Amino acid sequence: MTIAGKFNALVSTIVISVGLLVCGVSATHEFNAERERAFAQLEREVRSRYQIAYAMYLGDSQALSAALKPMLQTPVIGITAYSTQGDNRIVLGRSSDLAGFDEARGNTTSAETNLQSLNRDGTAAGVGLVSAFYPPGAELHLNLPVFSGVNPQSSVDTQAFVLAQSEVFAEGSRHVVGYLDFVVPQQQILLQVTPHLYRVFLISALFACVSMLFSAVFTRRITAPLARLARAAQELAEGRLEKPVQARGSGEISDIARIINGIFSGMSDYKTRMDVDHQLLSMKVEERTAQLSKRNQELNQAVKQVTQAKNRLRQFAYYDSLTSLPNRRLFTEQLSLLLRLAKRNEEQLALLFLDLDNFKRINDSLGHSAGDLLLREVGARLANCVRESDVVAHYSETSGKIGVSRLGGDEFTVVLNHVAGPEAAGVVAQRLLDALVEPMLIDGHELVVTPSVGIALAPDHADDVEGLLRCADTAMYHAKSTGKNSFLVYNNDMDAAGLDRLTLETDLRRAIERDELVLYYQPQVNTRTGAVEGAEALMRWRHPEQGLIPPFRFIPLAEEMGLINDMGDWAIREACMQVKRFREQGLLLPRVAVNVSALQFTPTFVRKVKDILEETGVDPSVLQLELTEGVVMGDTHASVKALSELREMGVSLSIDDFGTGYSSLSYLSRFPLTELKIDRSFVIAAENSAEDASLVIAIIAMARGLGLDVVVEGVETPEQYHFISEHGAHIIQGYLFSAPVPVDEFAELLKPWHFVRELQGLDGRARQVPGG
Ligand code: C2E
Ligand code: CA
Ligand code: CA
Repeated sequence: MTIAGKFNALVSTIVISVGLLVCGVSATHEFNAERERAFAQLEREVRSRYQIAYAMYLGDSQALSAALKPMLQTPVIGITAYSTQGDNRIVLGRSSDLAGFDEARGNTTSAETNLQSLNRDGTAAGVGLVSAFYPPGAELHLNLPVFSGVNPQSSVDTQAFVLAQSEVFAEGSRHVVGYLDFVVPQQQILLQVTPHLYRVFLISALFACVSMLFSAVFTRRITAPLARLARAAQELAEGRLEKPVQARGSGEISDIARIINGIFSGMSDYKTRMDVDHQLLSMKVEERTAQLSKRNQELNQAVKQVTQAKNRLRQFAYYDSLTSLPNRRLFTEQLSLLLRLAKRNEEQLALLFLDLDNFKRINDSLGHSAGDLLLREVGARLANCVRESDVVAHYSETSGKIGVSRLGGDEFTVVLNHVAGPEAAGVVAQRLLDALVEPMLIDGHELVVTPSVGIALAPDHADDVEGLLRCADTAMYHAKSTGKNSFLVYNNDMDAAGLDRLTLETDLRRAIERDELVLYYQPQVNTRTGAVEGAEALMRWRHPEQGLIPPFRFIPLAEEMGLINDMGDWAIREACMQVKRFREQGLLLPRVAVNVSALQFTPTFVRKVKDILEETGVDPSVLQLELTEGVVMGDTHASVKALSELREMGVSLSIDDFGTGYSSLSYLSRFPLTELKIDRSFVIAAENSAEDASLVIAIIAMARGLGLDVVVEGVETPEQYHFISEHGAHIIQGYLFSAPVPVDEFAELLKPWHFVRELQGLDGRARQVPGG
């Protein structure tokens, strides 16, 4: 309950109590006064009615009744008259309930008035207000003596009596003539005061209401500011207070308000400070966040740059800049990893080592940029070739990892993981060969490059990178020796002839001084006459430890090492000398063909040839120079000039390996050539396809059309011989007649009729046309 409520309740209680008290006191007082008044009235009336005293004086009952009758009216309901002795009795209205005269008089003296109250059951009751209410029905008995101024013993007439009676109360000499008992119900008295009681009650109630109203207003005046303060305190506590409290009211309230306002202003100061701090803080946070995000961006940028740099470095470190293929380093790392995996899984792995045939010549004749373009194209074709899924499917059931790398120069490798065996690796090798067969358009030249591929398998041949590379390398060299554009799988026998490139290089430098180079000769036989039309001088190296080394092993080396010029010069001189020696022996070799490397074809070359011819005294028409297509394609203008000079000297010029390097045929008419050598690969191809057969036929026809001699190289079988000679080529160089042989053996071949019998044997056989 609020203070106001409590206060109002208290005030109400007090006011109501006071009202009730006032009502009670007033009612009691009024009740008593009314009773006294009524009785005083009765006494006065009794005294004033002399008939009553006279009738009693006379003892006349009838006169008494008549005298008393008018008094039997409200509030009196009964009158009983007694004689002085109480023996004689007259009752008017309701008789008294009292037992008798003595009880009616009580203990009073004879001249006194007696008042008593009785309940209906005869028990004594109070005369006050309360007994008027409870128990109901209480009646008052007023017993009063009736006086006369005449002694009852005397006898006077009426007139004298009335006269005496008027003096009764004046002089005080009185005589009691009887007693009167009046019955008055207390209720009747109460009824008399009721209007007054109502008035008092109403006034009290009004007073109570006004008091309570006043109290309410008053307490409101006190508690309203308190409530406001309480609300303010609450709002303050909850932080919702927005303005200071208006302090109206008493001292304490304004004190409290002051305190609350103090706290409020303190808090709002604090809040303002906090707001400012908060704003500053959030500004700082924003600033920092912006800085951080900027840092973050810079960091990301830096990370990106570092990553890019790292990628670039990695690209530089692990990839070949020319072909974008993995380089030797990455190849080595990957292969060693794959080898470890293969070993653990007990699987086979194949390494294909691929080297371009005659790349050096192309590079030197067409320039490095052309060489670079060529390598790039080769790399792209190889990568494309191994990327084709059907290749994978061809060589192995399980999809394996195969990758192309460029180790440097014109050396490429392909690794075949999970390879089923040598045959499967062979399928891929053949694919690689096929992929390169299509001519490439480089710098306006159509070039054909052929590779030689060596295959080595892990763990059969070697189980480490170096060993595997050596084996594949060896196999590749063997593939080159057995004819270019082919592949070979490594076997242990190859190692016997295996060459250590390093020692070979140092040895090669001394080969000329030590006179270790020799020329072998292979005859070129005219199939119509059986005569040896000429011979090709082919270089061999008699190595002191390794024995006879074929040219494919040391010619590229000599070219790389810059030794080819000296070696080439030596070959021309030696061939010319040999022709001279044969002549001295009485043997006729009409022509000797010497191979010329593209690197030999320098501006001084013509001069050197001239010197050698003069030096040896050999007729220039005996000397034939075998040039590859690369030699003549180099510097076209200079080439035409040099070749023309050679021709003018009388030297004949043959185009070697025709069809393998350049397919552009226009040069044939532009250069002063005398002979065209059809490469062995065409002879082989012609046997297998009608298309290639007709190509060979077309080449022969074209050469004849251009007025060139035709020499067909690499004829091994009678079938090839027949095919060639049937289509109009009559000079044949090949194992069918003789392999290249040392001088002594060759001297035997030069003897007349040597090949005639052989030719007769061949022509006697049934002829079969290859390829068709
Ligand atoms: P080339 O100029 O195409 O020489 C012909 C090659 O074919 C010779 O290989 C020869 O032995 C081989 N050959 C001839 N007939 C047959 C045959 O019926 N079947 C087979 N399978 N092969 C046959 P060789 O002597 O090993 O020479 C290889 C290459 O080395 C030559 O190819 C030539 O390019 C180069 N070479 C040889 N001697 C010299 C030289 O003195 N100077 C230069 N620059 N290169 C030379
Ligand atoms: Ca040749
Ligand atoms: Ca040749």
